Amino acid sequence: MVCKGICTRHKAIKPKSGQRYTIGQKRCQVCQIFIYWQGPWCPCCGYRLRGKPRNSKFKEMMMLNTIIKN
Ligand SMILES: [Zn+2]
Ligand SMILES: [Zn+2]
Repeated sequence: MVCKGICTRHKAIKPKSGQRYTIGQKRCQVCQIFIYWQGPWCPCCGYRLRGKPRNSKFKEMMMLNTIIKN
């Protein structure tokens, strides 16, 4: 997982509202950059991107709940 510099081509401009995740921008923890990218993985380093953290956490909790109940 190394930054190759490709991510700068997809660099996302900070929106005025400040809500990056809601408009499809994702954060790469390896490149330490926000990029505008459709896929789940960083096109630069291949690391999994962070998008909409609240929703994914909520889904994870729901999954755990169903597993425990069954
Ligand atoms: Zn990069
Ligand atoms: Zn990256």
